[in-house]
Amino acid sequence: MDSVSLHKNGHVEGISVGELKLEIEGMHCAGCVSSVEKALRGLEGVETAEVNLPLKRGKVEYDPAKIEPGAIESAVKQAGFSSRRMLEQTSVEESIESDQKEFLETQSLFRIALFFSVPLLLFAMGPMLGMPLPGWLIPESGSRFGSWIQLLLTLPVLFAGRDFYLRGLPALWKRHPDMDSLVALGTLAAFGYSSWNLLIDGGISGLYFETAALIITLILLGRMLESRSRRRAVESVRALLRLHPKQAMLLSEEGETPIDIELLHPGDRVRVRPGETLPADGLVEEGASEVDESMLTGESVPRSCSTGDEVTGGTLCVNGMLTLRVRRIGEESTLARIIRMVEEAQSGKAPVARMADRVAGVFVPVVLVLALLTALSWWLAGAGTEMVLTRMVAVLVIACPCALGLATPIAILVGTGSGARHGILFRNAAALESLQRLDTLMFDKTGTLTLGKPVLEEINTWNGWTESEVLRLAAAAETGSEHPFGKAIVEAANSRNITFPKPESFEALTGSGVNATVENQNLIVGRQNYILAKAENKQLPEGWDEGAEAQTSVWMLVDGTLAACMSFQDLPRPESKEAVAKLRSMGLNPVMLTGDRLEVAEYLAHEAGLDEIRAGLLPQDKVNVLKEYQALGHRVGMVGDGINDAPALATADVGIGMGSGTDVALETADVVLMKNNLSHLADAFRLSRATLLNIRQNLFWAFAYNVLGIPVAAGVLIPFGGPALHPVLAAAAMALSSVSVVSNALRLKNFRFAQAS
Ligand code: ADP
Ligand code: MG
Repeated sequence: MDSVSLHKNGHVEGISVGELKLEIEGMHCAGCVSSVEKALRGLEGVETAEVNLPLKRGKVEYDPAKIEPGAIESAVKQAGFSSRRMLEQTSVEESIESDQKEFLETQSLFRIALFFSVPLLLFAMGPMLGMPLPGWLIPESGSRFGSWIQLLLTLPVLFAGRDFYLRGLPALWKRHPDMDSLVALGTLAAFGYSSWNLLIDGGISGLYFETAALIITLILLGRMLESRSRRRAVESVRALLRLHPKQAMLLSEEGETPIDIELLHPGDRVRVRPGETLPADGLVEEGASEVDESMLTGESVPRSCSTGDEVTGGTLCVNGMLTLRVRRIGEESTLARIIRMVEEAQSGKAPVARMADRVAGVFVPVVLVLALLTALSWWLAGAGTEMVLTRMVAVLVIACPCALGLATPIAILVGTGSGARHGILFRNAAALESLQRLDTLMFDKTGTLTLGKPVLEEINTWNGWTESEVLRLAAAAETGSEHPFGKAIVEAANSRNITFPKPESFEALTGSGVNATVENQNLIVGRQNYILAKAENKQLPEGWDEGAEAQTSVWMLVDGTLAACMSFQDLPRPESKEAVAKLRSMGLNPVMLTGDRLEVAEYLAHEAGLDEIRAGLLPQDKVNVLKEYQALGHRVGMVGDGINDAPALATADVGIGMGSGTDVALETADVVLMKNNLSHLADAFRLSRATLLNIRQNLFWAFAYNVLGIPVAAGVLIPFGGPALHPVLAAAAMALSSVSVVSNALRLKNFRFAQAS
């Protein structure tokens, strides 16, 4: 199969595109995301730029002929953020460490701020609450000394919040104000006004030191909580990376030697003992054991593996001893590919995020204007300086668009992470979003609705061929085939102890069969109509009864004459009926697409509870049927195993690959079901719906805080006798909004999979 042309996300060969991945520090809100993206997209030679807030990552595709990676990095710096190039494989420990460091830093800053804010709040508010404080501490009783103490207590808090000024003010000069600018302006206004009053104007009234200090303390608290929950969200997938053991037990002439996993090569033989983790993907050569694959597939029942079975690195050998022939290691291993896929999905952007991004891009400047308008209106209405100031500060502080930037990516992060831990992999954020929008679901038959393990039931022969000779040649022809029928023929020959030669030449006729040269004879093995078309006399053998039974027939032609017809029984998957019914109840219309003949398709459709069938299709016909439905306005998903249906998987709005299928399925599908079980489909749909719902809730909360908060903070309700929002409460609401968005997204961690592991 030509997998290159099927890559959905691949680049067209010949046109080289550079890709740069950056770790970006210092982003705290959607405003920051949009300034970085704007700065990147404004560069000549940059084709796409996507920045992810919770992962703190940027991905840039650029034309190496026009721009160098260094220039891209400096653009990020220019915008006021620090960035670091990411290696292809940033180690887990490293990323977890850097997240942990950020959390601890914010935490200690918060502690400093809290330590000085508490006494400040006490001295400033105590008298109003009737607390017995000595008069020399209280500005209201005429003590300038008390005012000075408040100023001195505020300074360390401002120091703890220095990042707001160091980042927010330059951003303002550079005309891309962000959340830090808002906090900086709000707190500086409160602090500056109070200092003016203290130094110039008597110094006992008009003091807002505690407001400035508390805003900083609360926002630091919000950031600390947010950083903690974000870490929890990211960790779940990174934990997958830790599945690989560090060492393997290499088998050689001299016996067993422990070696570093990095030194392992494909072809090596390794031994795995009970309780140990499999070091690499491989083939069992000796021994038998139950293998626990729950970490990859979500399947809680261990699989019995013995000689000849394929096993995956990272899974657990439960109770037996296995000798493996290593097949894939490092970057190529299934585990590495899963992790890459999940990380890609998490760092990409869902289409729903675009709207939030667009809003966030203009949000901060709009807020600045609103804050000025607020101040102006109160001033024109004849309000005192304090009223003008507090309203303005409240607006600045409540309007930080932090929650807005987190709303979508954090839900995608947690949703894809939950899926991955249960064996449902999404290739990208868009797939997670589109899945829940499908209305039609096409199923491939062999290997998808059926087990894909056909059993040979009957052989009819003609022209003097014997059954065993037919099997011997057919098995030789199918030696290199990955098609279930090809494998079944080889297996049938093996089980009858028929030894067969290697073919001199072999060609897979996609969707029809194989063409091979064995012992100087031309063999064509495959579907009936193809074989008849190639046969010399183009006639079905006399007296041949097609039969209505549900058997797939595979025909064989030797040097142009008909030799045999082999009939196979491929059982439907036991769960297919229930899974199809479930999907139907979720509003999806199931359709079967198959290359097999109609009778077999009808029998299986009946077994699985389907009524729309298209049979006798070649791979390209499957694509055409999909397009036909799409042209009617349907949003169509395709479920397949990658054998003869990869083009359809790539054409569908969402291609869903069965994990046990081929590498092609892993590479082409938008969604991969690692656990080879159709009941996981419904879970994938439910997870997609739950995530989208979660995103909408998050966006609602993020917007609600801002949209309702701003007018209240501006004091719109005051003329009607309503409450005025104190700037400190505005800061609390702002901190709460991002915390509530992140906590809401974390609920997806507990998403209930029907197929629990
Ligand atoms: P499905 O659409 O049901 O998954 P395929 O498109 O993979 O089926 O195959 C269609 C038909 O082509 C099969 O039913 C079989 O008769 C024939 N065929 C395809 N590949 C092979 C092969 N390697 N050996 C024998 N027959 C094959
Ligand atoms: Mg198939």
